[in-house]
Amino acid sequence: MSGMEAGRPAAFLDRDGVLNVDKGYLFRSEDFEWIPGAIEAVKRLNDRGYLVFVVTNQSGVARGYYGEEDVIRLHNWMNGELAKHGAHIDKFYYCPHYTEGPASGYVKACQCRKPLPGLILAALAEWNLDREKSFLIGDKDSDIAAAAAAGIKGYKFAAGNLAEFLQATNAIRE
Ligand SMILES: [Mg+2]
Ligand SMILES: [Zn+2]
Repeated sequence: MSGMEAGRPAAFLDRDGVLNVDKGYLFRSEDFEWIPGAIEAVKRLNDRGYLVFVVTNQSGVARGYYGEEDVIRLHNWMNGELAKHGAHIDKFYYCPHYTEGPASGYVKACQCRKPLPGLILAALAEWNLDREKSFLIGDKDSDIAAAAAAGIKGYKFAAGNLAEFLQATNAIRE
């Protein structure tokens, strides 16, 4: 890597169960409920120079529960809400696939569905990131496994306040 400009650190955040209450196949903004401290956590990461990426399995697309356009609409809405607080997600990476379902275009054994690291690897390929300083926060073992497979640290969030959790991990480096 010598000669390369040092990359930026990134925070990879799972969506359901980390940023918002996991209600199962959520796609309507009316049903969206922020996890306490989530907006504050994103803003702190923004302010500390971290790129913030969402990495989320959205098999509801393959399963025919909602369309990819619904996923994109919800993510745009989330960024609109974050903007009211001076915070933002730099990019949303989502896996719309599943091994079965009626939405045939999305039915496959892909490389991006966590616990596989495809979403994280896509971000690493797309941005000049400092892998050492980058980390993931997820609420499932499959999130942590994806981080490990991509060579970044993973922190498992169970419940409570996300900003307090972020602080307690000491994950943000100078
Ligand atoms: Mg989750
Ligand atoms: Zn996928």
